[in-house]
Amino acid sequence: MRRYSFLPLVLLSTAAHAQQPPRPEVLLNQVASEVSQQRLYRDISKLVSFGTRHTLSSQTDPKRGIGASVRWAEREMKRLGLRTLQTCDTVTGRRVPTPTRVCNAVAIQRGTERPNDVVIITGHIDSRVTDVMNAAADSPGANDDGSGTAAVLEAARVLSKRKFPATVVYAALSGEEQGLLGGKILADYAKAQGWNVVANLNNDIIGNSCGSDGVCNPGQVRVFSEGPRWQGREDLAARQRSLGGENDSPSRNLSRYLDALAERLPAIGLDVMPIWRNDRFGRGGDHTEFLNAGYPAVRFSVAVENYNHQHQDLRKEGGVEYGDTIDKMDFPYLTKVVKLNIAALAALASAPPPPEPTVQGAVSTDTTLLWKPLSGRPGYAVHWRRTDAATWQSRRDKVAQCITPELAVRAECSAVLKSIRVDDWVFGVSSVGANGFESPVASAVPGGAFKPYVPPPPAPAGQ
Ligand SMILES: [Zn+2]
Repeated sequence: MRRYSFLPLVLLSTAAHAQQPPRPEVLLNQVASEVSQQRLYRDISKLVSFGTRHTLSSQTDPKRGIGASVRWAEREMKRLGLRTLQTCDTVTGRRVPTPTRVCNAVAIQRGTERPNDVVIITGHIDSRVTDVMNAAADSPGANDDGSGTAAVLEAARVLSKRKFPATVVYAALSGEEQGLLGGKILADYAKAQGWNVVANLNNDIIGNSCGSDGVCNPGQVRVFSEGPRWQGREDLAARQRSLGGENDSPSRNLSRYLDALAERLPAIGLDVMPIWRNDRFGRGGDHTEFLNAGYPAVRFSVAVENYNHQHQDLRKEGGVEYGDTIDKMDFPYLTKVVKLNIAALAALASAPPPPEPTVQGAVSTDTTLLWKPLSGRPGYAVHWRRTDAATWQSRRDKVAQCITPELAVRAECSAVLKSIRVDDWVFGVSSVGANGFESPVASAVPGGAFKPYVPPPPAPAGQ
């Protein structure tokens, strides 16, 4: 979204060292510049060469089918020295008539300082044609979702050369077209590992720029985000009605973060078009399974879809070519989307996680924000905006007062905003590392935390 930015371009650094760390933009532009259009093309050509990657296709054929393609994706990531695994489950469902093994290729790049904080990039490796149950026909899936899978592999290549404080997970998911199966399997795995998932960036159809009607938009990428958070919604509804939060889920704030990041990195040449809807009208993607588990997640997708080149049998009809083939893609555009993804992963994995603020100030002329201090003692910035404003409008750095456990029974940070009425604004807090990297803003609303919502325990009986 193009707009006048209220954000200062240089973020504060809490360190008073003579030698300041380089600005975040230096690292982010560097990783973006290492994305290779040739490698993206080579990866998608390879993915197409498996003939079909339908979830119900062969798992054992060495050359054709889903099994060969998932093994190839895992090998590509293993070659980089990353720890890889396949997360699998045996599934039966509406689009899976007989019990079928569904496996994702996953690589884990362990964080050096906060390995339990995890950012995850996903794309789906499975493909389909017109009939979603047709596992035999050639189904190139170049754009849907060879493009997202290539983004995952390229992210692994560029970022595995560096170290990050938080963990980065790269995942090529299977079973998307049969019902978001791989997304569910990985979200369950994240839960079982106890990961603190700060963000899932899901990429699904990111490699074309023109629709079948000739409408083109190579300058923007859509980022879909849910508004009121789905997970925990029954418990949150009454408090959100009273205190707000319908536009402040962690996913919505992740979308705002990505939008601002794209503006800070003009060299990439891509603008974010935020779409305030979980996914395209009536349609779905794997990030939804992360949201169902309570993890912040967004979907990247092209600004203009071409329906002739997705979910179509390969054919020519009335002079029109149908099918998801590589020649219909726009690789310079895909390269830009991958650059933004990789810069976002590097930014999120370098920043501390967002705090979990609450706000007070009813019947008061001042507003007070409260949150638990994070380990590593990062700095904090307080943000606020009008309730009907799309993006954060005001910020204040170094306003937080933190009481450490040595001085008090309960560690707590607070920030008081004088003569600002709580009724008229939405508030949030971000954390800022000594390296200058800033987390997304977590809104001080019910359900605003970048964590699965856990309802408070019921009050003890007899009170
Ligand atoms: Zn897809």
